[in-house]
Amino acid sequence: MFFMTSVATIIRPMMIEQDILFTYIGIFNSLVMGSVYFYIKYTKPKSWYPMLFACVGMLVLTPIAFVSGGVNSQFSYILPIIPIFIALVSNAKYTWLTGFMVIIVVIGLYLGAHFFTDFTYENVPQNKTASRALWLCLAALMSTKLGVEFNRIYGALGNKISEQAETDLLTGLKNRRSVMDFLQTSIDQAKIENKRLSVMMIDLDHFKTINDSHGHLAGDLCLKQVAQLIKHNVRNASDLAGRFGGEEFIVVIKDIDPQKANDIANNIRTSIERATISLNNNIELKVTATIGICTLNADQLSSIEHCVDLADKALYQGKKDGRNRVVMN
Ligand code: GH3
Ligand code: MG
Ligand code: MG
Repeated sequence: MFFMTSVATIIRPMMIEQDILFTYIGIFNSLVMGSVYFYIKYTKPKSWYPMLFACVGMLVLTPIAFVSGGVNSQFSYILPIIPIFIALVSNAKYTWLTGFMVIIVVIGLYLGAHFFTDFTYENVPQNKTASRALWLCLAALMSTKLGVEFNRIYGALGNKISEQAETDLLTGLKNRRSVMDFLQTSIDQAKIENKRLSVMMIDLDHFKTINDSHGHLAGDLCLKQVAQLIKHNVRNASDLAGRFGGEEFIVVIKDIDPQKANDIANNIRTSIERATISLNNNIELKVTATIGICTLNADQLSSIEHCVDLADKALYQGKKDGRNRVVMN
């Protein structure tokens, strides 16, 4: 807007004959928008941008529209597109608010324009003024509705894409990237709040044999069921279970002492051991898992790699010791 107004202020007098008043208003508008732009950019959070954009847009357009014929002014035609810009950068609430503000400005221009001189000196037929005001209001309403709908569809699509980007396709658990992000946030939070954090690595035992003897589809079915068993043993609100890759799963547990973490791991291990995975051809499979845990105090927490590495070392100790067990590091 700042750039457009500045350029229009310079170019317009070269192309059409106009009252010097428009150049003064153009310079004033450019200065106002330039100052507001830099003030907001360096002092205010991003949540301020949309509504300030709407308010500045209307504050800049209203005076220039008043002195150029009110609703008959060419500048008034810009008003109904403001809600679309707001919809692109914010939400439905702000878009509706902007739409209503535009309608109020149009009504104000219609009712108040005869108090101002029309410095364009154009011979506009006044009998169409009310109809133009009405069409401007309708255009504002339509652009608001269009913006809100766009926002809804675009928002739903965005949510779906980010959900897909975070989810493991086979098991429906969070994928590795998502759990790593969660782990990083949990480490930062645990350090600030001086709390403990536990990381669990779960690896299915002799999983290759299941694939080799029953096929990959049976292996996939097995992974899906194990994922559900792990999920059921994890607190939904605070902790997170995810697929680390292949037949390995990772669980992050916040604010827990080593013994309780060990109990949760044992619950997961026994529920996997007890479960029976039924294949389509009436064959039933049994599977076990080895789990490595590391529980660290706030002052021991450094990086995600460090936590995963410690849990991994415990896991491989468990494999060495004979599998189907929980090992704490
Ligand atoms: P260990 O007890 O030492 O962990 O033995 P393991 O056989 O489980 O270990 P290994 O790492 O040798 O084998 C892991 C197997 O997991 C190999 C691979 O074919 C299988 N696997 C990895 N991802 C998938 C998957 O998405 N679906 C299926 N069906 N199998 C997978
Ligand atoms: Mg493995
Ligand atoms: Mg394995």
